[in-house]
Order: sequence, then structure tokens, then C-alpha cells
Amino acid sequence: RQEQYRELRDKPCRTKDGQPVELMLNAGLVIDLPHIEDAGAAGIGLFRTELQFMVSTSLPRTSEQLSLYRTVLDAAGDKPVTFRTLDIGGDKALPYMDTIVEENPALGWRAIRLGLDRPGLLRGQIRALLRAAAGRALRIMFPMVTVVREFDEAKTMVERELTYLRQHGHTLPERIDVGTMIEVPALLYQLDDLFERVDFVSVGSNDLFQFLYAVDRGNARVTDRFDTMSAPILRALRHVARKGKEAGKSVSLCGEMASQPLGALALIALGYRSMSVNATAHGPVKALILELDAARIEAEMATWLDTPYDRVPIREKLTAFAA
Ligand code: PEP
Ligand code: MG
Repeated sequence: RQEQYRELRDKPCRTKDGQPVELMLNAGLVIDLPHIEDAGAAGIGLFRTELQFMVSTSLPRTSEQLSLYRTVLDAAGDKPVTFRTLDIGGDKALPYMDTIVEENPALGWRAIRLGLDRPGLLRGQIRALLRAAAGRALRIMFPMVTVVREFDEAKTMVERELTYLRQHGHTLPERIDVGTMIEVPALLYQLDDLFERVDFVSVGSNDLFQFLYAVDRGNARVTDRFDTMSAPILRALRHVARKGKEAGKSVSLCGEMASQPLGALALIALGYRSMSVNATAHGPVKALILELDAARIEAEMATWLDTPYDRVPIREKLTAFAA
């Protein structure tokens, strides 16, 4: 099979009926970078910057962050890289930072919340990203945005850092796209306002599922209780894809869902034409895409989601379609 995937490497990633799909990789460490070339991926759809912080024994200095980001951009060459700003706090605690005990860390002081309340860390990171991307394209994405105002505040930080670097004579990125993850259900009801502001969004289906279904993603007792491929989440995902299309903004998905061939199939059926997967999933998902009649599965999915409750699970229908 490995051989078979290698053969796919240089084939354009297109469905059988000719629809291009941007298939990217999730990454977070230098060891992930060779996979871009090996897999022939379209770029990095999610670079988890917190990993550098999690494997360090002390807070990485801005210069160390800058050096990592430059290495990542060098490895990606002309392909896009979406850097997600620090998604720490809650259960992703850093050993060298004061631990704050919270009763519900997933709902607590994490990610962009922490970034906006203690702006020193986020500001330093943004500066490192802007400098690493001097003369090139940069994509910055914020995690766990819950209300539009948080995006505005975070984007203002980017603009301030840009002004600072400009005044100090630094070469600026040639182009900057700023976007957000969609991981909190509240954002689903602010999409018109959100799409007016962002350059792109990427759905974090792991967290979105956790919050939509009120199921702790790390609690084995409940994680399998609800199907990740059922109408509530699929309708939510479709809503994002539709709104993005209406607004002419790019919509991708970087949660685990895209890394499962059946999940990727569902995403194509919902209108997604961009997704980011784990390195090991790239081959299998690409193989599926190349064999897929996108128009047909889109029509099927519309019927499944728009007709009354049917006892046959959508997962089963997708499996039957893929067979
Ligand atoms: C997600 O929530 O789907 C996601 C991609 O982010 P993480 O898994 O890092 O929380
Ligand atoms: Mg997440």
C-alpha cells in the first residue's frame, strides 16, 4: 500500500469528476517537515506552535521561536503554512509555567483567552512569526476564538507588531492572511460577522465536536457515545462551508475527522475542498479523493441531511457509498 501511495504523490489531488481538493498536513515539530515533500502535500494546514513550548524545559525565547518558524517556512518553500498561535492552558499545561487548577480546563483559561489576557507571550510570538516570514507569505490562525471581538483584538495585535517592525526597518512579510479556528459552537452563529473580518477559517472538529456534543474528548467513557459522523455535527460543518462560500472566504478543516477516509468523504460531501490531515493519513485520503465522484456524494449527503430522521446511521450510508 505504501508503494501505491507513493505513486499518487505527483498526481494532482482532484476528485474523479475533476474537482480540485487542497490536501495539506498537520505538523508541529521539525521532524514533521520532510513529510510535505514525501507526501506531495499542498502545504501545512495546521502548524501547532504549542508543541515547541511543550517539549521545552523553559519558555522558548523569541529568537528560538523565530528560528523554528523560519525552518518551517524554508521547508515548505512556495507552499502555504498556517501557523496557529499558542493553544496552551487548560489541559495543555507547560511545566515551567504556574499551573492554574481549574475545574473544567477545556472550558477554562486557554488558547486565545490566555493570549489576550497576558499579551506579552502572544505579542512575542506574533513578532517572531512576522520576522520569520520577511519577504514571504504568512498565515496566522487563532485558536479557540469564541466571539468576533476576540478575533478583532488578536488581529489588532498583529497590526501593532507590523507597525513596530516597519518603524524599526525590518523587512515585512510580502502578504499576511489572518484567520481563526472554528472550535466553539458560539462562532457558528456569528459567521456573517466573522467572515467579514477573517481571511480564512479552519474548523477544529476535535474541539467543535467536544463542545457541540458536551463530550470530553479525552474521556474514554464518553468519547464513543455519539457518532462523529451524524447529522448535528454534519449540519454544523455544512453551515460553515456554505457561509464561507457565500462570503468568498476559504474554509478548511484540520481536526481528526479529515484524517479518516470516511470523514474526508463526508467533508467532500459537505462542500469542503480543503483539509489538513496527519502525515500517515495523507496517502489513504488522497487515494479516496482520486476515486470519488464529488457531485454524486454531495447530492446524497444533501438528501440524508435534509430528510427526516432515518434510523440508518449516516456513517453506514457513507460506508456503503465508499464500498
Ligand atoms: C481541533 O480541535 O480539531 C484541532 C485541530 O486542534 P487541537 O486538536 O490541537 O485541539
Ligand atoms: Mg482544538
